[in-house]
Amino acid sequence: MNASDSIEEILSCVHEQALRYVRAAPDMRVSPGAAELAALDLFEEPLSDTEGDPLVTLRLLDRAGSPATVANTGGRYFGLVTGGTLPVALGANWMATAWDQLGLNAVTSPVTARLEQIAGRWTLDLLDLPSDSGVGFVTGTSMAHFTCLAAARAELLARQGYDLLAKGMRNSPAIRIVTSEDIHVSVLKTLALLGIGMEEVERVAVDDQGRMTTNGMPRLDERTIVICQAGNVNSGSFDPFDQICDAAAAAGAWVHVDGAFGLWAAASPKLRHLTRGMQRADSWTTDTHKWLNTPYDCGMSICRHPAAVSRAMAFQAAYLAIGAQGVTLPITVPEMSRRARGIDVWATLRTLGRSGVARMIEATCQHTRQFAEGLADLGFELMNDVVLNQVVAIPPDNISPATLAARVQATGECWFGTTRWKGREAIRISISSWRTKQSDVERSIVAVKASLRHLSRG
Ligand SMILES: *Cc1c(COP(=O)(O)O)cnc(C)c1O
Repeated sequence: MNASDSIEEILSCVHEQALRYVRAAPDMRVSPGAAELAALDLFEEPLSDTEGDPLVTLRLLDRAGSPATVANTGGRYFGLVTGGTLPVALGANWMATAWDQLGLNAVTSPVTARLEQIAGRWTLDLLDLPSDSGVGFVTGTSMAHFTCLAAARAELLARQGYDLLAKGMRNSPAIRIVTSEDIHVSVLKTLALLGIGMEEVERVAVDDQGRMTTNGMPRLDERTIVICQAGNVNSGSFDPFDQICDAAAAAGAWVHVDGAFGLWAAASPKLRHLTRGMQRADSWTTDTHKWLNTPYDCGMSICRHPAAVSRAMAFQAAYLAIGAQGVTLPITVPEMSRRARGIDVWATLRTLGRSGVARMIEATCQHTRQFAEGLADLGFELMNDVVLNQVVAIPPDNISPATLAARVQATGECWFGTTRWKGREAIRISISSWRTKQSDVERSIVAVKASLRHLSRG
């Protein structure tokens, strides 16, 4: 078969399979069982010497692959902070993929550049961030940290008269990093990629909710980057931005906010108070593939000093001054070739609007409270104030959190993992999907109850 002749058949096959999958996701096992995992062996073929039929390949993908997926897009996956995929976001993602745009700049894809500009502007508006901030679309929050922190470091050094980009780190004045004991691992990883070691980082003690304590904060100066968070990955708590920003402003320090999911709380009139003072920071990062429910991979790097980002991300290449325009457009992210990921965000924001985003965020928080109450009724000790979409809880009767989580996972009814927080093992629930309903929480609580009963008998 000639592949180009069958494009209609190929796309309709995928459309039909994907539709069937997404429809079935709310009722399928949340994580694959032994039989589904064993069927992955169907993929274990030698690399073919000859060309095959693309439809056969795509059917195999569905037959052996779909049952072995984790049903993120159902409504009962509560691990990490995943979110599902809104239908409109999936649709826009398909369109953008069909377009095969190179999202480098407005020359390689005028439509991508325009839609990402609009999606960026809408996001700043929705989250009440400074309207003249620069926005970059990256693979996720980790790469957004990388972008913002690279810019922050070069900018602070430039203010000291040191050109990091030309002279490098070997002879550079020291940059200080101040962050909390409870900062997300992605920040430490990103710092390592930037050549900043873990032992160089000044860690500040946290309170019982994992918030940075400002009385424990060291004296800041103009060579300091303070990294705080909107949405602690365990408790969902927010650092005290107002006090941190006061101290940073007085010292000339840079404030960076990890808002992988929590930044979106600013879109809800009911939750916005949690983010108070956050707008005064210098840079922010967030994911859209978590709480905004777009497909992977999409995060945003947001910076009040766009010129600093452009300088840190710039490159000069004569071949990129394309055609009559004769200009190299500003590059705001580490990648060169990349997919038109901001289109998913544009489509989502255009469709949900302010009230739709707020409603989606608030519904997940409502379901989280419902889940927490259900756990408390079963005798769990709740470790955090449930202010957002996160619950950390310790099972009753000395039942091991890991054993309980494994038992519940094995039922396929819902999925949550464990964490170690404040020196204690606990289960950790995060509800970020638009698709989670009250009945999903009820069904999950039933599964937890049955597993508890089984384990306390055992
Ligand atoms: C998920 C998460 C990150 C990392 O984001 P990626 O998109 O996985 O790179 C950083 N911080 C917090 C609080 C997170 O929840």
